[in-house]
Amino acid sequence: MTKKTAAILERLNNEYGIIPEPTLDYNNPHELLVATMLSAQCTDERVNLVTKDLFRKYRTVSDFAKADLHTLEDDIHSVGFYHSKAVHIIEAFRILNESYNDEVPSSIEDLTSLPGVGRKTANVIRTHVFHIPSVVVDTHVKRISNRLGFTKEADPVKIEFDLMKKLPEKQWSAINLQLITLGRTICTARKPKCKECFLSDLCPSRSRSD
Ligand code: SF4
Repeated sequence: MTKKTAAILERLNNEYGIIPEPTLDYNNPHELLVATMLSAQCTDERVNLVTKDLFRKYRTVSDFAKADLHTLEDDIHSVGFYHSKAVHIIEAFRILNESYNDEVPSSIEDLTSLPGVGRKTANVIRTHVFHIPSVVVDTHVKRISNRLGFTKEADPVKIEFDLMKKLPEKQWSAINLQLITLGRTICTARKPKCKECFLSDLCPSRSRSD
């Protein structure tokens, strides 16, 4: 790790802490899986509003596996892409029910073999359910990793591997929520507030974006 990367991580840790707190509400692993699948192209706040009632109605893996497609579509319609999300949830939960004894698996291969589950969702589950160090790459991580010079890649999987190579393992699970917070408040997509940024003296993109 370079001195500059170490300095950036130290400031992120001081500013935001290193314990990743999930922003989606859930009570057990399968609820986090549903919430994460619903969160694609949707805000966590909206997902939390929907799952409040959803998790009262569908309490078990089996409840989701046996759900009626049109009813589930109605139940989740406000999160967007509700048809494909409902199809994927029912199919994924049928597999959990039939092949995994109603348990959410921990391996990246098993998780990503489920319909509608990509590496981002799989790494959220591994981070928060199994406490396995994992790098979750979302739109904020993608943008800010490039701005900070951690990667030059655009592909989320390549960025994930770049970050695993460049950052110490103990930082992997924290970096996602740290960069999300930075991305929502300071390093925004269209107009980053470089003058206010606590990383401005370390950031190679500052002069281009200030
Ligand atoms: S200095 Fe600007 S571009 Fe760099 S991380 Fe801060 S807000 Fe983002």
